[in-house]
Amino acid sequence: MKTDIFNLAGNWYRGNLHLHTTFSDGTLTPEEICSVYRQAGYHFVALADHWSLTEVRLDYPDFITIPAVEYNSGVYHIVALGVKTLLPSPPPDVQEIIDAINQQQGVAVLAHPYWSGITSADLLNLKNFQHLEIYNNVCQITKGKGYSTVHWDELLQNGRRLSGVAVDDAHHRPTATMEDDLAGSYVMVKATALEPELILEAIRNGHYYSSTGVSIHEISLKDNILTVQTSPVREIRFLGYNAQGLRVSGCGKEIERAEYKISGHERYLRVEAVDAQHRFAWTNPFYLEDFFRPSG
Ligand SMILES: [Zn+2]
Ligand SMILES: [Zn+2]
Repeated sequence: MKTDIFNLAGNWYRGNLHLHTTFSDGTLTPEEICSVYRQAGYHFVALADHWSLTEVRLDYPDFITIPAVEYNSGVYHIVALGVKTLLPSPPPDVQEIIDAINQQQGVAVLAHPYWSGITSADLLNLKNFQHLEIYNNVCQITKGKGYSTVHWDELLQNGRRLSGVAVDDAHHRPTATMEDDLAGSYVMVKATALEPELILEAIRNGHYYSSTGVSIHEISLKDNILTVQTSPVREIRFLGYNAQGLRVSGCGKEIERAEYKISGHERYLRVEAVDAQHRFAWTNPFYLEDFFRPSG
């Protein structure tokens, strides 16, 4: 993330980039799930059914869908956003799927690595993808394997530039011992208007943050001090290369702001905040070389 996305012209739009419907293994129709998300305060969703470019006709002025499909090859699942045609099934390998999505000017999101048993070493063998699911709600609710932030850090650590998305991957199959997976996470995208192409372009550029309920109000960088303002949280973490970074705790009290003095050795920095209900917000990383170029 550029730290200045909070100052970019435009509006914040709340979306979910990975949902299933009755066109694959979800239990709600496209119309039903769109209605649920719209009523929950979302502005857009991606209906990423398995091997289906699910379409839906909606008549809302304040809610859109962006084209999507979820592909799989071996243990790898890839959500393709903004693609117009379906790949032939099954394509030979995951890298070919990613490359084909890029050829269609789509956005490839590597889905739920923790749940899939994929390691960061596996991911380092893949290239040409810039977005990773760092939180997947159905993987958390059904298996306790929703968080893939260590995968994210290990790829960043190895010099990859990678944005992190929080998704529901909703199927809507609640039971007596398992919560519903609807509307549990989101991305907040900064875009100039609620149109599929503009939302996609903002996602492609990393102009978003991810959340399971915590809001980020402001990030600013001035005189090497990174300042973050959030909704009330228990702690705010700054994460960089190796041991670079800082955890700022309210020590039992709630805080809404934290500062971090950049040493120059962080290489990259991302911020995450955690509230008393263990809800998160995650910014995308920014990369120090973009801000501190040698002069001349
Ligand atoms: Zn999947
Ligand atoms: Zn899925």
